[in-house]
Amino acid sequence: MMLRQICLEGQSIDCQVKRSRRKTVGLSITHQGLQVNAPKEFSDIAIDELVQSKSDWILNKLAVWGNKTSLDPFGSQNDSAEYLLFGQVWKPKIDAIGRIQMVRDDTHATKQSEHRDLSESARKWIMNWYRQHAEKYFNARIAFYADELNIPKPSFKLSRARTRWGSCNNRGVIRLNWRLVQLPVHLIDYVIVHELCHLIEMNHSRNFWALVAGIYPNFRQAQGGLSRYCL
Ligand SMILES: [Zn+2]
Repeated sequence: MMLRQICLEGQSIDCQVKRSRRKTVGLSITHQGLQVNAPKEFSDIAIDELVQSKSDWILNKLAVWGNKTSLDPFGSQNDSAEYLLFGQVWKPKIDAIGRIQMVRDDTHATKQSEHRDLSESARKWIMNWYRQHAEKYFNARIAFYADELNIPKPSFKLSRARTRWGSCNNRGVIRLNWRLVQLPVHLIDYVIVHELCHLIEMNHSRNFWALVAGIYPNFRQAQGGLSRYCL
């Protein structure tokens, strides 16, 4: 992997170039920016030319990502060191002997220096805080909606996938991304309903969406809401 800076219509863009034994060039945009997958013999100049020729598409895609809220709580984008839980802002308050407490942002004013450059143990503590809330809430809502759907409550696992909110397998185990716990509860509920309905309909057929709509009528709005976040 090689990192290049490319200037596109006056904007400097980070571009990761990965060369491999492939035959064609592929461009992709993720929360990390532009990535070019190219054949070994493809020159830097050829890559620059290709990127320039696709500048509209690239700038457009980057703008979409830029407007999304990142759900990586320790990512560089989180420079205000605010932590979302159920759509509300929390901040860590660390006392003189290093004990952490999470406080709602509007109830306590914390000093910038208190939550910048969190120690490894503080990060672990916050991750644990998230995990506990996730397990408790997901569990309760899975039970609630399984009941609505008249199916036995499935077991679930927290996942840390970077590509999906949730999934389920044919053994009936549901996986829910722990990062969901940062979202407003109605969005979390939609993902839970979606996965539970897959236990009945293992596809995205008309029947599946009818099932979803039956217990979560506003599912289209929820899909729009989810698309404003990136994992
Ligand atoms: Zn699905």
